[in-house]
Amino acid sequence: FSSKRGYIVNVTIIGSGYVGLTTAVALALIGHRTRVYDIDNAKIEGLRVGRAPFYEPGLEEALQAAQANLQFEYEPSRAFENADVVMIAVGTPPTPAGGANLGYLYTALRDLTEHNTNHDVLVVTKSTVPVGTGSNVSAFYEQATGRTPLIASAPEFLRQGRALADTLYPERLVFGTRDPRALTLLRELYEPIISQTFEPPAYLPQPQQRSTVPAIECSIESAELAKYAANAFLATKISFANEIANVCDLVGGDVQDVMAVLGLDSRIGAQFLQAGLGYGGSCFPKDTRALAQLSNREGYSFKLLSATIEVNNDQRFRVIDKLERHFGTLQGKDITVLGLTFKAGTDDLRDAPSLDIIAELVSRGARVTAHDPVALDAAGKMLPAHVRLCSEAQEALKGADAALLVTEWPEYRALDWRAAQRSMRHNVIIDGRNALDHHLLAEIGFVYEGVGRVGRR
Ligand code: NAD
Repeated sequence: FSSKRGYIVNVTIIGSGYVGLTTAVALALIGHRTRVYDIDNAKIEGLRVGRAPFYEPGLEEALQAAQANLQFEYEPSRAFENADVVMIAVGTPPTPAGGANLGYLYTALRDLTEHNTNHDVLVVTKSTVPVGTGSNVSAFYEQATGRTPLIASAPEFLRQGRALADTLYPERLVFGTRDPRALTLLRELYEPIISQTFEPPAYLPQPQQRSTVPAIECSIESAELAKYAANAFLATKISFANEIANVCDLVGGDVQDVMAVLGLDSRIGAQFLQAGLGYGGSCFPKDTRALAQLSNREGYSFKLLSATIEVNNDQRFRVIDKLERHFGTLQGKDITVLGLTFKAGTDDLRDAPSLDIIAELVSRGARVTAHDPVALDAAGKMLPAHVRLCSEAQEALKGADAALLVTEWPEYRALDWRAAQRSMRHNVIIDGRNALDHHLLAEIGFVYEGVGRVGRR
């Protein structure tokens, strides 16, 4: 896979999470000597024997394929040896006030400045950070080392579930730096990706077409803001689709058809118009809140964004209200929740709507059984003790009064719903993702309700 022009860069990535590890594997695949540094010893030990710390399609194969270029390290004293570029990809979780907690980032910087005393590196922030962090990072580095660092912001846009493909075939790259030396290094690092001159790995979804990837060069501040703006816009599209769905529920119309019409308008675009029970995950909830908080701090009330967040918070409870209307009360009802991860294709439960939904079902007196194809064990540690966990979807539905689909795992659509119908006590299905075949379900005898999808409510 080595780059055609033959640049080989020594990179250290701090953080072996979804972003850090995926970036590291992608850079190793295209020929760079890549070291991953994490403070989590167990993760590093696992990675050394080829074990990915999370589920992501193609990742284990890629770890294997790129192993000659990959090293894993938990000793800070060895993490930055010979590095030309250090990328920071640690978590920036929300603070209680809704801002971004930069504690991990500054710990990482401290490790870098304490242990890399003999040569200068390009420090690239890949973590999502508030505007102004780049210049604070620069000041921190300068104070700690007495040297002016090379700094850049290269925010990440990968989607979990497609992380590696998104990293190897991105729609755009962002190089936030005004320093020509930093730009040159970034261009060398990403050259095979920009020119798409590497062999596409067979175990990943193949790119539709391969053309040069645009790399937008801008200030650090623009790069930092662009990441928040992109996530805020996508979240707004989802909340917009959900509001149209809520109107459909009242006046009739099928939100799927309405959004198909919108989606074919190239000014709008078809993606992220899927109505349902709202977004979750480690990025959209935290990034929308952080941008709202950043704006507020500067005295600007970002009204559109506040509404996006409010709609999303309400949306996950609307499906519970729908369910309750079928029974009058949820007290003593057996409800099977299908899917726990925040979306299909990942094992990530961070800010997953399922957690709020199950807590609310329990507080309204329901007895909950939950199924998920990949996240059952992890969910067990986060859910109330009396929630029954079931490793077979069909088994989970036995004796249930209703099923509530929370995550759009394809296997739920493919389930033998005739068998489920025979084993359930009542045949109510609330499809929180509009993912099931409602014609088939109605034919079998289910009382089906989606989000903005069927009839008047
Ligand atoms: P993660 O929680 O999966 O991984 C973070 C990793 O950093 C962990 O393995 C942790 O042990 C390690 N770490 C923490 N402090 C460290 C330190 N001082 N030194 C070394 N390692 C340290 O996080 P993630 O989902 O990969 O997200 C990372 C950043 O990227 C966040 O800012 C996030 O907002 C952003 N982002 C995430 C996604 C996504 O889909 N997950 C997409 C785009 C951007």
